[in-house]
Amino acid sequence: RATPVRGGQHAGLSSSSDEASVLDFSFVTPVITTSWRRLSLASIGLIGGTTCMVLSPLVAAHFVKLIIEQTAFHDCTYVLGRLALVYALEPLFTILYVRNMWHVGEVILAGLRKEVFRSTLIQRMEFYDKNKAAELGALISVQTDTLKSLFYDNLGRDRGFRSMLETACILGVLIHGSVYLAPLLGGLVVALASNAALTARRARPLFAAEARAAAQMADVATTAFRSIRTVRSFDGFEQERQRFDAAVHAASASGSRIGEAKSTMEAVNRSAIFAALFLLYSVGGYLVSTGQMALVTLISSIGYCFGLNFAVQGVVNSLADFNKARGALASVQNVLKACPVDASLAASLPSSTQRALPSDPESFMETAKNSDLEFEGVSFAYPLSPERQVLNALSLRIPRGNTTALVGQSGAGKSTVVQLLSRFYEPQAGQILMGGVDIGSISRKEWADTVALVAQEPVLFVGSVAENIAYGRVWEEGMSHKEKMALIQQAAGDANAEEFICKLPNGYDTMVGEQGVILSGGQKQRLAIARALLKDSPILVLDEATSALDSISESLVQEALQRLMKGRTTVMIAHRLSTVQEADQIVVMRDGRIEEMGTHENLIAEEGAYFDLVSNQSLEICLTV
Ligand code: ADP
Repeated sequence: RATPVRGGQHAGLSSSSDEASVLDFSFVTPVITTSWRRLSLASIGLIGGTTCMVLSPLVAAHFVKLIIEQTAFHDCTYVLGRLALVYALEPLFTILYVRNMWHVGEVILAGLRKEVFRSTLIQRMEFYDKNKAAELGALISVQTDTLKSLFYDNLGRDRGFRSMLETACILGVLIHGSVYLAPLLGGLVVALASNAALTARRARPLFAAEARAAAQMADVATTAFRSIRTVRSFDGFEQERQRFDAAVHAASASGSRIGEAKSTMEAVNRSAIFAALFLLYSVGGYLVSTGQMALVTLISSIGYCFGLNFAVQGVVNSLADFNKARGALASVQNVLKACPVDASLAASLPSSTQRALPSDPESFMETAKNSDLEFEGVSFAYPLSPERQVLNALSLRIPRGNTTALVGQSGAGKSTVVQLLSRFYEPQAGQILMGGVDIGSISRKEWADTVALVAQEPVLFVGSVAENIAYGRVWEEGMSHKEKMALIQQAAGDANAEEFICKLPNGYDTMVGEQGVILSGGQKQRLAIARALLKDSPILVLDEATSALDSISESLVQEALQRLMKGRTTVMIAHRLSTVQEADQIVVMRDGRIEEMGTHENLIAEEGAYFDLVSNQSLEICLTV
């Protein structure tokens, strides 16, 4: 058989892991090309709406002038008609703009969220050792929400492209109307913009402090609720309340200071507008009375004065929003960039615009079924504590189709062996071989199909019982729902889970996981066993549950496990020595090395480390009974 290609090189999609670790924005281009109709309509809406807004003070001023000149009312109606037309068209253009831009924004945001999720999924394990799961969840929701507000808050009249275009058009009309008034209102623009920018600068650290306090508030609350049993049993209510109060006070202190900054800005803005109006009346009045300027220009300028206030503040706010969004994106990038991504995962989970990899034509499964697993001088330290060597040149043969049990004191390195076997981490020295092939060179997908993991605390995902059993199973093409259900039911039957599933409110369609029905530890374990049975992988990794199950549940689980282990190469972390007696090979580990190896009978006869472990555990059992 051909030697499989190393996962990272497999794809040729990411030339280096550094490149793959940043977000891939290539999804934006197709959005723009496929949304060209919506973008064109939005542009028409934007230009049309702005034109109406800029024209309205001018048309209104014409009408007022006619009235001042005591023109007969019916002669004014044509101007009134124009005014009505401008007022009627503006909302229609606005709908056209907002609707279409909103839609495009939604598509871009969806692409971004998917990309952040994908980039997080393809991280190496140490990334998850380093970052809290809750914080990563917040990364996707909070930070992308900031970007969402960049799209949505900037679609109204008072922000975004609309305010930029309005400011430019109003200034153009003013310069055209009067060269004298233009500098006056230009000064107003500068005053308003500087005021808003200064306030934004003052408020920025306050907003950041407020956000930090809010995040802390949520963190304190979530931790307290999640650990409510500990809080109750240690009577920790007062500590929790004090920590929450501190976060609340920090948030409201920043909030109050933001309020002060905003009120000053409001007062300065009003003063600037009133000063501009006063100058407008006096200078404009003089110009009109001396015949140097038309009355219509003066009247319309009053309207523009207010319009400019809105528009300029809109521009400044938009710039602030833009900076905030850039900051949010940068913080997402920084978290993602902190660790190099797993290049082979990046290849098997390409971004939406990249081509998915074809799976290896030659399956590794047959090799896995017919070969022994071999650890050859494997040394390993966790990436976050590189100075602590957890496995030291470990060499171990795991015969095919047999059960190997790993035993030893806590911290001996048993879980680490399993984690390396699951390829959550890679050894720094040595190799793990299967049929002479380094498992690191097999594509991720194929290795995932080869190994089934039954964890100590089985995880159920949000979904139905059937979906949970089928998790990870790759269905053959063209298989009907009925055929799939038959296999799922067979696995459930073999896992001794059929009986309790049938008693659930909706049988196999009952929702489990968070917010679903609550299952007992033993039931969850049997679902996990059914999942592994259905996946039908040749290698089985078993982290035996320590949680005390009642004896009926335990015998059901044990029986199901026996069925699952039959004919598979099984590596089992055994916490209860009573369950390892049947193993074909028992490996006693200490400090990342193998201390002893053999069958139960041999090791007992040797009266070594295993003998001591068994004696201690029997003593513990005697003492607890
Ligand atoms: P066992 O399963 O035999 O109890 P482990 O393999 O879990 O032992 O742990 C071996 C050593 O590795 C322990 O000292 C433990 O503290 C350390 N360790 C385990 N997981 C990690 C991790 N994710 N990061 C850093 N050190 C770890």
